[in-house]
Formats: sequence, structure tokens, C-alpha cells
Amino acid sequence: PNSKAGDGKPRLLLMGQRRSGKSSISSVVFHKLPPSETLYLETTTRIKKESMHSFMDFQVWDFPGHLDYFDPAFDVDNIFEEIGALIWVIDAQDEYLEAIMRLNTTILNLQHSYPNINVEVFVHKVDGLSEDYKGDTFRDIIQRVQDELSDNGYENAPVSFYQTSIYDHSIFEAFSKVIQKLIPQLPTLEALLNSLCSTCHIEKAYLFDIMSKIYIATDTSPTDIGSYEICSDYIDVVIDVSEIYGWPRSEQNGDDENLTETGNNDAESLITMERKGNNYLYLREINKYLALICLMGDDSPAEKKAVIDYNVGVFQAALKQVFPRAERDAADAPAA
Ligand code: GDP
Repeated sequence: PNSKAGDGKPRLLLMGQRRSGKSSISSVVFHKLPPSETLYLETTTRIKKESMHSFMDFQVWDFPGHLDYFDPAFDVDNIFEEIGALIWVIDAQDEYLEAIMRLNTTILNLQHSYPNINVEVFVHKVDGLSEDYKGDTFRDIIQRVQDELSDNGYENAPVSFYQTSIYDHSIFEAFSKVIQKLIPQLPTLEALLNSLCSTCHIEKAYLFDIMSKIYIATDTSPTDIGSYEICSDYIDVVIDVSEIYGWPRSEQNGDDENLTETGNNDAESLITMERKGNNYLYLREINKYLALICLMGDDSPAEKKAVIDYNVGVFQAALKQVFPRAERDAADAPAA
């Protein structure tokens, strides 16, 4: 319901003050920049519209912090009519009172005109903070936003808070939660994954967007950050392998328009199972954008692979019904 973009794909908008970390976040998550190299990024000084070539094909509009986006000269409708979620980045290592004032103004404005936009507050750069200070800062920020909202009579505004850092997996986890809210099919996906897990004794299954390492769904068993890390690290192996074999998976918009789709072809989709410490990892590419990754305990030895292959095949077929549009897109040239 919240994916209101004309092309039906969820669109995100990244906002926050200058130096809060917006360029770093989009470079690390969507362009695989190593976090330490963000030190040399130029700070955002203009509106950047990027078209992500992933399953979601969402856009990140990177706003400079000083821009007054509620200035009448600015085409507010054009921007806000299209987005599903506004991600507001706050630098937790810096003075944040002004950032919160601006955030509160923005939320109140949105509540008035676009009450369905999810506001996702990333309390960012928490890697530099002590555990105590981190918790206090987080609670303080939430309190200040909620007080302002309830003072204005908006008790139930769709505002959520996350602690993030580009130096660990928290930024990917946060993005995953943000994106999942924008996928109307999420309950179906979770049900399919739950059933796959119980049939095959899988501990945890993730459906990953390969390019960004955002997971668009997981089964509903409790998620611990460790399993996400193990699974997302495994994708890097796959992407290397894919490049070796020349799979078309360009990050640039439209680059691969002339290449033929190979990802939905069973014969060429990558399926692997490997032992990793005390676990087994199973990976299968579902289409050009998505991969299913399953984590299993020691009690699921490799002999079970045939059973898993079969059931994942069933899952894959079901997924084609859930996302018929993705299949169409894959058949046609990708939208620019
Ligand atoms: P922008 O102006 O909002 O686009 O901010 P930048 O992306 O240019 O980031 C400003 C500075 O913050 C850069 O030096 C980044 O390396 C740093 N930075 C971004 N994210 C993090 C983070 O999670 N932790 C830490 N410690 N520094 C970060």
C-alpha cells in the first residue's frame, strides 16, 4: 500500500543534515563501498536521484542537509507523492538537537499531507559510542520525537527508530526492515519461508536482494544478527562466482538491457550447499535479483540436499506467483 511510485516499486528517500552520513550509507549499501573509504566521500551537496538496479529497483534520493525542502519553490508533491518511506539520518556522535527540530517539523508536515509515508529514523554512527551512551542517546531521541508528536495530537504516526552504523551489519538490518514494510506480499513470503523451514529442518531462511544484501523477507522464527551475517557474507562468494562466469548483474542503470536474462533459468541458476563451522549453508539463486539462503544445523547433513532442492523448487515456483511482475520485468528489458 505504501509503494506509491508510478512503476509500482517502493521508493525510499534519504534525508538528514550535512555530514550525517547519507552518502556513506547509500555508497556502502548500494555500491559496496568499503566503509573506511567513506572518509573520502564528498558530502552531499545536491539532490541525487539514483536508480538502483536490484529486484526492488528503488530509488534513493539523497538530499543535502541545508536544503529547505518545504520551500514553496520546491516541488514537494512531486517528491512525496512517490515515496513509501522517508529515512531520516541523525548523527548520534554529534549535537543532534537541531537535527531533531528539523525532523519534527518534517514529520508534522508529512502527517498533514502524506500521513502514509513511513518515517524511519536512523540514529546513525553508533559505532563510536559506549553501550551506555548509545542507549541513552537512542532513548533521548525517541522521547524528543514522540513528545513533539503527542503534543501535536499525532500519537500513532508511523515513525520508527533504528541504531545504525556502516561499520557493521546494522545498516543492512535497518534497511531490510524498512523495505519489508513496503512489500505488500510480505505475509505470503513469510508463510512460504516458514513452511520451507519446517519441511526441511532449516533453522533460518532469508530471501536476499543480491546487489544490496538487503533481505526482503525471512521466516518468522527469531532472528539473531549472527545468522544474517553468515548468510550475507555468503552472498559475496556468489557474486564473485557469478562474475567469473559472466552473469549479467550490472549495478549501473540499464547497462545490461541488451543482455539476455539468465537468472530464471533453472539450468543456470546457482545452487550450492556448504559446511560452515557447525552449520550448513544452502544458497539458490531465485532470479537475477534474488537469492534464497538457508542456514541449517549439524543435524541436517548433506544427504538431505535432494529434499531441500525439491522443496526450494516448490518455493521458487510459488514465488513466481507472488511476484508475477518481477517475472515480466525479467523477461522485458529492465525499466530505466
Ligand atoms: P552526508 O553529508 O550526509 O552525505 O554525510 P557523508 O556520507 O559525507 O558522511 C560524513 C562523514 O561521516 C564521513 O566522514 C563518513 O566516513 C562518516 N560516517 C558515515 N557513516 C558513519 C558511521 O556509521 N560511523 C562512523 N563512525 N562514521 C560514519
